[in-house]
Order: sequence, then C-alpha cells, then structure tokens
Amino acid sequence: MSRKPIIAGNWKMNLLKAQAKDLLEGIKDYVKDYKAPELPTIIIAPTFTSLSAVESVKCDCGCGGNKISVACQNCHWENSGAYTGEISVEMAKDAGCDYVIIGHSERRQYFSETDEMINKKAKAILAGGLLPIICCGETLEQREAGVTDEHIATQIRAALKDISSEDVAKSVIAYEPIWAIGTGKTCDSIEANRVISMIRNVVKDVAGSKASEEIRILYGGSVKPSTIEEQMNQSDIDGALVGGASLKADSFNEIIANTMKTMKQLV
Ligand code: 13P
Repeated sequence: MSRKPIIAGNWKMNLLKAQAKDLLEGIKDYVKDYKAPELPTIIIAPTFTSLSAVESVKCDCGCGGNKISVACQNCHWENSGAYTGEISVEMAKDAGCDYVIIGHSERRQYFSETDEMINKKAKAILAGGLLPIICCGETLEQREAGVTDEHIATQIRAALKDISSEDVAKSVIAYEPIWAIGTGKTCDSIEANRVISMIRNVVKDVAGSKASEEIRILYGGSVKPSTIEEQMNQSDIDGALVGGASLKADSFNEIIANTMKTMKQLV
C-alpha cells in the first residue's frame, strides 16, 4: 500500500505572529498551484502564541480541503485544571490544530518528559480527535554504544502502550536522531531507513500488520532541500519533520517540491 508522505515544519520557539503569518503566506503562495492530492500532507507547527496567526491556513482556493494542516508542539493529557503553563487537547483543537507533536527530544531533555507522560499525551490526543506526531531518537552516546535499536524500540513500545490498532494506524512517528538535530549532520538515508523499518516492525508487534503498514513514519534531523529526495526514495521513510529549513518559505517549499518529484515517480 502507498502511504501519503508528510512534510511537517516544526517552528520550535521561533517567529513572532507577523513572521508566522508571512511564512504561512509564502507556503500558501506555493501550494496554490497544486491540487491537494498532488501535494504531500503539509503540516506547520507554530508556537502557541502564533496559532491564531496561522488561522488563515484554511484553504480558500475552492478545492474543498485543506492543503496545510496545523500542529502544536506540546499539550497536556488532562482536560483542564491547575496545570500552569499547559494547554489541553481541546484547547489545541479549539485553536485549529489537527496534530500535536509529542516527545520531541528537546522536551524530553529540557523539560524532563518521560515515556509514560508521552503515552498519556498520545492517548489524550487520540481520544480528543487529534493525531499525535510521536518523536523518538537516540543520542550520539547511545549510537556509539550500539544501543540505538533497543532504545528506540523501548520508546515506541512505551508511547503506544494500550492504544488500539486503529488509533496506532492513524498516528505519526518521527525518528529524529538527536545528534542530527540542528547540527547539519543528516543521518545517512540508508541507515535512517533501516531504523524506520525497525520501528515499523515494533509497531507490527504491538498493533498488528495493518497498523504497521498504514502508520506514517518520518525522518527528522537536518533535513534540507538537497537531502529530501534521497530520503523519500527509501522504502520506509514516509516524510520529514523539518526544523531549521522550515523557517523560510523558500527552503520549505523546495522540500515540498522535491518530495512531489518522488511522489510522481511512484505513479
Ligand atoms: P533540524 O531540521 O533543525 O535539524 O530540526 C529537526 C527537528 O528537531 C524537527 O523536529
């Protein structure tokens, strides 16, 4: 079966509202010439404060669908209450989000997020009708110690614990080796594909083969316009979670364009 590729831009803690709006306009200007089925699933993940600035994401070209979806970069698993600084899934939905990024290595590292918290978030997101983008990845020390696969399999098993196969199938996973994030050092495509197929096998083990064939698994870590084609031509890489190169319309649009080249090759 063929999985529709995803190109997601994680804007991290960047861009004021006006800048976010400008960037969105730059992406909209590029995608307006294409029909939604020709494009990959395009997701932008602004800061909470810029979510209102990207409300105009709703497609106005008459295609009846949205060419650009919105994600937020975190949420809490409770519906409401005394959780200063957090937002709920319902609030994310209310702000126009379709997806929520969870378990990013920066949140695991700087905000002490655990596998257990990530599992609670994934369940709350799915119960609330949004889709999680679950991040995983190893440090350089773990890679050098030869424990990459074991570490990632543990992260994925924990994140997907007690989630139905149907919900797993709809979810998104992003494999982001920590040593490749923001460093300019892209993980070799063949190696990224090997780890991603290992993740797909773990998904098969926990949620069955249908879910493992349907779930979209992305690569993230210094993705650039010049790397995406080779990455997309791998058997198991279904797209990219892009950081730095998603902050400029030119480079993000070029990543979308180069992804579309590989989609055409599949036809
Ligand atoms: P870079 O593309 O800047 O390496 O960031 C990757 C990332 O962390 C996306 O979530």
